[in-house]
Amino acid sequence: MIFFLSLYGVESINCREDITKELLLGHIRYEYDPRFVRISSSYTSFSKRKLYLRKEAYQSFQKMYSSAKKQGIQLHILSGARNFDSQKRIWERKWYGNTLVQGLKLNQAYPRPMKRALIILRYSAMPGLSRHHWGTEIDLNSLENSYWKKGKGLKEYRWLTKNADRFGFCRPYNQKGRDAQNSRITGYEEERWHWSFRPLSQKMTKSFLKHIHYSDLTGFAGSSIAKKLRVIPHYAGSIASSCL
Ligand SMILES: [Zn+2]
Repeated sequence: MIFFLSLYGVESINCREDITKELLLGHIRYEYDPRFVRISSSYTSFSKRKLYLRKEAYQSFQKMYSSAKKQGIQLHILSGARNFDSQKRIWERKWYGNTLVQGLKLNQAYPRPMKRALIILRYSAMPGLSRHHWGTEIDLNSLENSYWKKGKGLKEYRWLTKNADRFGFCRPYNQKGRDAQNSRITGYEEERWHWSFRPLSQKMTKSFLKHIHYSDLTGFAGSSIAKKLRVIPHYAGSIASSCL
């Protein structure tokens, strides 16, 4: 255990893996951080948008991409590392009704903060709470579960389910419900597109649950209800057992 100084004061986090509170909470500028690399546009659907990942996760994704391609499966990355500020933009656009959710302006449809937060939390994390902060997570091909349930999407989903593990990737947000395999009772809804590079993210999940407190979740609309909603165990901790 090594003590070091962070923006949040002296923390006793095991930094053998270089896990700091800044990293866990997404207070990172990926373009200047040597642990992160820019994803080549050949692996994304965007020619101009800059996407980043942790080096190890990217290298493993490249291997998975090639293996998939040989078997006629085309993978592309829609989202990689997202820092606190970009998650705050996503969250607050939904919070203030600038992005419609289920066709609704949530600030009008749900004036009460608790209910409004619960609706956003179905698919979006509070800033500071997103696994995307870590650079270990990727969203692939389509952000609609329905895409993955038939035709091309189903073929891709089956390939990933069978093969992603060989490259270190697991799916943290599996099916929810008591009867589901590896059941998750609380947390985000199922996301078939979201894959996590377990060799890094497993340690980060553990560190997050151990070292991040509600007092760390500040600086965004609705942050004061994070504790009441118990977002740390119920969302950050509600992960498929294959990723733990
Ligand atoms: Zn995601």
